[in-house]
Amino acid sequence: MANKSPPPKVQVPDDWHLRDARELARAHGVDPEQGLREDQIAHLALQHGANQLPTSAGRSVWSLVMDQFSDFMILVLIAAAVISGVVGDLVDALVILVIVLLNAVIGFIQAWRADQALAALQRLSAAQATVLRSGQVQQVPAHVLVPGDIVLLEAGNKVPADLRLIEIAQLKVDESALTGELEQDDNRSTPLQLRLAAFGKRVALAVLAICGVIFVVGVLRGEAPLQMVLVAISLAVAAIPEALPAVVTVLLALGARKMVSFNALIRRLPSVETLGSVTTICSDKTGTLTQNRMQAECLVAGDGDGTAWTPGLAPPDASQAAHTELLRGIALCNDATRSQDGSWQGDPTETALTDVAAGAGLDKAVLDAEWPRVLEQPFDAVRKRMTTFHRTQLGFVAYTKGAPESVIPVCTTQWQQAHGSGTHPLDAAAWLARAETLAAQGLRVLAVARRTHEHLPEAGGEIGAVESDLCFIGLVGLMDPPRPEAAAAVAECKAAGITPVMITGDHPATARAIAHRLGIVDDAQAPVLTGADLASLDEEALMAQVRRVRVYARVDPAQKIRIVLALQAQGECVAMTGDGVNDAPALKRADIGIAMGKGGTDVAREAASLVLLDDNFATIVGAVREGRRIYDNIRKFVRYAMTGNSGEIWTIFLAPLLLLPIPLLPIHILWVNLVTDGLPGLALAAEPAERGIMQRPPRPPTENLFANGMWQHILGIGLLIGGLCLGVQAWAISTGHAHWQTMVFTVLTLSQMAHVMAIRSEQDPLWRIGVASNRPLLGAVLLTFVLQMATIYVPVLNPIFKTAPLSLPELVICLTASLFVYAAVELEKAWRRLRVAP
Ligand code: ATP
Repeated sequence: MANKSPPPKVQVPDDWHLRDARELARAHGVDPEQGLREDQIAHLALQHGANQLPTSAGRSVWSLVMDQFSDFMILVLIAAAVISGVVGDLVDALVILVIVLLNAVIGFIQAWRADQALAALQRLSAAQATVLRSGQVQQVPAHVLVPGDIVLLEAGNKVPADLRLIEIAQLKVDESALTGELEQDDNRSTPLQLRLAAFGKRVALAVLAICGVIFVVGVLRGEAPLQMVLVAISLAVAAIPEALPAVVTVLLALGARKMVSFNALIRRLPSVETLGSVTTICSDKTGTLTQNRMQAECLVAGDGDGTAWTPGLAPPDASQAAHTELLRGIALCNDATRSQDGSWQGDPTETALTDVAAGAGLDKAVLDAEWPRVLEQPFDAVRKRMTTFHRTQLGFVAYTKGAPESVIPVCTTQWQQAHGSGTHPLDAAAWLARAETLAAQGLRVLAVARRTHEHLPEAGGEIGAVESDLCFIGLVGLMDPPRPEAAAAVAECKAAGITPVMITGDHPATARAIAHRLGIVDDAQAPVLTGADLASLDEEALMAQVRRVRVYARVDPAQKIRIVLALQAQGECVAMTGDGVNDAPALKRADIGIAMGKGGTDVAREAASLVLLDDNFATIVGAVREGRRIYDNIRKFVRYAMTGNSGEIWTIFLAPLLLLPIPLLPIHILWVNLVTDGLPGLALAAEPAERGIMQRPPRPPTENLFANGMWQHILGIGLLIGGLCLGVQAWAISTGHAHWQTMVFTVLTLSQMAHVMAIRSEQDPLWRIGVASNRPLLGAVLLTFVLQMATIYVPVLNPIFKTAPLSLPELVICLTASLFVYAAVELEKAWRRLRVAP
């Protein structure tokens, strides 16, 4: 992977502060070569505590409780209830207060669950550190570090504690965190929440105006003013959607927690929402689309015309010496480290090379001991090569390996000739063509070269300058098989209207071959834009290119940001993967920055909004599917809650116009609000994905939450609910049914239960998705039904709820009326299906 270098091995010349760090370690009883022992660690941990900065403790339980009562209308309701209790009916007032309290409990539980889910996500993103302890290199959470720990850093690591340097190679540190450029991590308010909060304010004003009218009309009709105040305020509390942003947090946070179970770790909550709008996924190749399990498939010795050799078979006699030199080069110019079980660990490219050398009888450990490494120029993704210097009996030899276009141009001779007359120039064009042929087979190709030196380059000098005048010793072709699930995930993307794009540091021919194999491009000769092409294009030309190009090769990480910007300028919503330090700006700029959990750097992870715990492309597609499901469910919740509110308003508002008495008491209004919004609404979070969720185009990011007929639904079905309530009321009064108010109360509750079952899918009828396919919702609906029946049929509750037991025919009328709502929504969906069908 890009920018990964192993623990540095080159010892910087001793000077006072470096000596000081080692001596300091020893003075504290730490062996710098072995690290702390277990017994020391336990003692130091007790003595110094956790390696942690004080963090803001999050919202306290108390502030969560207070939040539930911070809404102005709730306070007004409490005040009105207290006044009415003092001057009138104490029981009524108490019941109102109990309902307000129960509502607060539900609100508290929701907020608490969301906080817990977010805290769990934060714990999963906690920083890690690599330490040397008792002679073993291990990964530990950064907070368990103790003074005296020997920490190993590599490119892209976050510095996990205050450290002194013992050994360094090419150290560069980004100190912006120290100088105060700290980024705001706004994990709480998502764009959707902000939009809903603004929308809620407008609705609140409208509801307050309507409640004012209801109050005035009621008083003019001779109702008791205090009673009318309570009716109006209860309605305002029930119908103002002040809880919508909070519920959105709950749905997003629960969704994000679920996504961890399939290896997608959300670092910024708004991304859950954005995932549903992704139109382009730009992915690295190595490790994300492929398995990152390299295997050398072909070795080409740099002698003569180059004899190819398949690993595992004996090399041809004539070029045996040339092959041995090639193998020596790839084993020495290699950062793999030996693990305890004797296997080689590190970058898969490197371990594949040590394996192939070992297979031919050349053990890296033996070679390292014979020709120890004394200096290095580590690999980086921009130079695309690395060089190591080794001490030999005769002086020094440097091996360089890297991308063919990076290494071959700095070679002047070919191995065999170099050892013969030493002056034969290299046919660079022929060797580059040879590398291209291998790459077109999907192989990652490395070129290897060497040069002898009498002296080491001067300490502190630019050792890159000695990467010239090299002697070419051969090519290695490595196969990195595509991930088995990647082709299906690419196909799923395409069906979902999302364009998969490959951006890789690898060779264009390798990239095109793998992209073709995975279905990213359909044409084996599809255009590939290289980093060099990219550099020569101005922004306008690049914008034209990004529309047609699906494969980018030999791209520097720093160029990725140009691709993101060009795609965004075309209106695309871009998800972009990256693992190295230089990927960070592009990850930040992308609509969804995606980092690798296994192979990536801390810097990339910090910049990303989504981390793939398994580094797998298919996980991105899974996360998009989940993002779409969560957004759908938020829409369903809003549709359900707002339609219920609209039904309540229509009922109370229209009654006086139809010359009917006030249909409901404040307790009824508050009760309906409590039982309908609380459980059934939240159970919508468990609604499974809609059929064909990945066969429809991405949602435009600017699309209104209320798009596609939602407004009309809220007003229309709300009006139907109001009409049914008032119809039952008028009929019951005209036919002399004394329990008309209990009937209206029951219709209002049950019609909302019918509604929530009907809106579970935006397209399919309930019988198609299955009544029991969302068990939490079915349970919540049944529980609400039982509670409603309790308010009617449990004698002790009758005086409290001002209800009376309904006769069977009365109950049947209520149920039938409620089912009209279900039928109406099914008809609406059938009509929508007809419109969509070709
Ligand atoms: P991706 O961007 O898809 O992860 P990548 O891993 O191929 O692709 P880099 O790691 O930037 O991208 O590698 C770019 C090129 O550098 C490779 O194609 C290869 O030629 C060369 N290269 C990669 N790893 C090494 C290495 N360890 N030593 C020498 N050269 C390397």
